[in-house]
Amino acid sequence: TAQLIDGTRIAREVRARVAAEVAEFRERTGVIPGLATILVGEDPASEVYVRNKRRLAVETGMADLHRHLDADVTQPAVAAIIEELAHDDAVSGILLQLPLPQHLESGPLIDLIPALKDVDGLTTLSAGLLARGRPGLRPCTPSGVITLIDSTGISLEGLNAVVVGRSELVGGPMSRLLLERNATVTTAHSRTRDLVAVASEADVLIAAAGVPHLIGPEHVKPGAIVIDVGIHRTESGLIGDVRFDEVSPIAGWLTPVPGGVGPMTIATLLANTVTAARMRADQRMLTRLGP
Ligand code: NAD
Repeated sequence: TAQLIDGTRIAREVRARVAAEVAEFRERTGVIPGLATILVGEDPASEVYVRNKRRLAVETGMADLHRHLDADVTQPAVAAIIEELAHDDAVSGILLQLPLPQHLESGPLIDLIPALKDVDGLTTLSAGLLARGRPGLRPCTPSGVITLIDSTGISLEGLNAVVVGRSELVGGPMSRLLLERNATVTTAHSRTRDLVAVASEADVLIAAAGVPHLIGPEHVKPGAIVIDVGIHRTESGLIGDVRFDEVSPIAGWLTPVPGGVGPMTIATLLANTVTAARMRADQRMLTRLGP
């Protein structure tokens, strides 16, 4: 049976490393890295996510700079708040929790976040930097998936990686991050004709379709690394895109839901926030030294 990739444990290790980096940064610069979270409305799932992000930011020694906006807030009002945070020196990272209420357009709001504070890695500029292979902040969920794969000790170079999903948030950047590691990457999606044929060639299979229990043993090459990004609330608890019990006897490595990708996403957000704080401090130092 597959070895379990313990996202809860690996996320705890990442957070401990982030806490040490935050302490070092505070010592060196006198600045406390600050994470600004923006929550619009009362979506219960989003409330839980934001609460966890804020709690763990504080636990790693960062400042929690939260804004809660009414569900009927206007687009210009949200824009004004993002611009205020963009110019606020106490803010190292800005996270606009998605999804937003129907009447708000998320794309233009996200793009008001400066690339140096884009800890979710979702602005057009950050996506472009990733596409070009240039340094920048990377989206948290796919970046956390890379950390989970690295924890197996297996090198991605030259392996067949199949990503099921091509969203801007997960599947798209996931494929590019795997390519950056020199995997041979295939992106499958809802129009893929024969998912079983494509997926069963994968040495590394990333399930990010958002379809409960889509992936079964027929999709999995024996010994493969299988990462389950899906999260679905059911009456019997959280389930993923992968039928864990059926895939476990075939896969070499497998992430559980819950306790896999979920905790890694938040740990990566915190890692991005301290990276963002450092990048800005270094940039200030550069301009001070520059002509
Ligand atoms: P999305 O709906 O935006 O995108 C889903 C993608 O999967 C699309 O590109 C679509 O083409 C593809 N797809 C849909 N049905 C398919 C099928 N039958 N076969 C092949 N491809 C198919 O969703 P998303 O935002 O990318 O999120 C995907 C899943 O990951 C969701 O379950 C979401 O809840 C979860 N998620 C988890 C985390 C985390 O931290 N663990 C973070 C973000 C999203």
